[in-house]
Amino acid sequence: MDEQFDLYLSLLLEANAVMNLTAIREPEEIRVRHFEDSLKLLGCADFRNRRVLDLGSGAGFPGLPLKIAEPSIALTLLDGTGKKVEFLRRVADALGLRDVACVHGRAEEYAHGPARESFDIVTARGVASLPLLCELALPLLKPGGVLLAMKSTAFESAPYRLLGGERGEDYIYELSDGTLHNVITVLKITFTNKIYPRPWAQIKRKPLV
Ligand code: SAH
Repeated sequence: MDEQFDLYLSLLLEANAVMNLTAIREPEEIRVRHFEDSLKLLGCADFRNRRVLDLGSGAGFPGLPLKIAEPSIALTLLDGTGKKVEFLRRVADALGLRDVACVHGRAEEYAHGPARESFDIVTARGVASLPLLCELALPLLKPGGVLLAMKSTAFESAPYRLLGGERGEDYIYELSDGTLHNVITVLKITFTNKIYPRPWAQIKRKPLV
């Protein structure tokens, strides 16, 4: 596992020299702000044998560190940027990770396909404001599933009920560099109306409340 993190770090540094994957360039800072931060989610839900979607995974956060630490996860990494998805595939191959699907697509379209209501856990960091994220993520969760939204502010409201969800607990944690972060959990209770998610332009123009 440590070697896998070392290899991931070197692939990230190498790729970051030619494309913009992360603004953080110091290896130690990457370990804390990306790896440690991602792994904190292990304290918010039981990931063992779960079907997990990392929505807007970018360079793989939080999805890949979670998979390295908990190999029984069936992981899907979704991102709208093709180059990032190519990088994710390269890392998954190089680390020998099994059961990782790297999907190039937009969540608002992906949620109207076969993946709708198929995940136990959706994770997202740095993707969209909470109301917008709920519209993208809740349709992808099975009833009984949970959205783990890594946010810097804790007390945002969102259209939980309209989308078949309910607000769960907040988790606040401290990274080893002293930064405080939090995770907002949203529970999926009932099936989501098929009209959601709407096209992105509408989601942005008229957020649900
Ligand atoms: N989760 C990563 C990346 C955050 S940047 C991290 O925390 O480091 C946000 C990423 O979400 C970008 O890579 C962008 O391409 C992707 N993204 C934004 N909206 C999306 C959508 N609707 N569907 C799929 N990917 C999306």
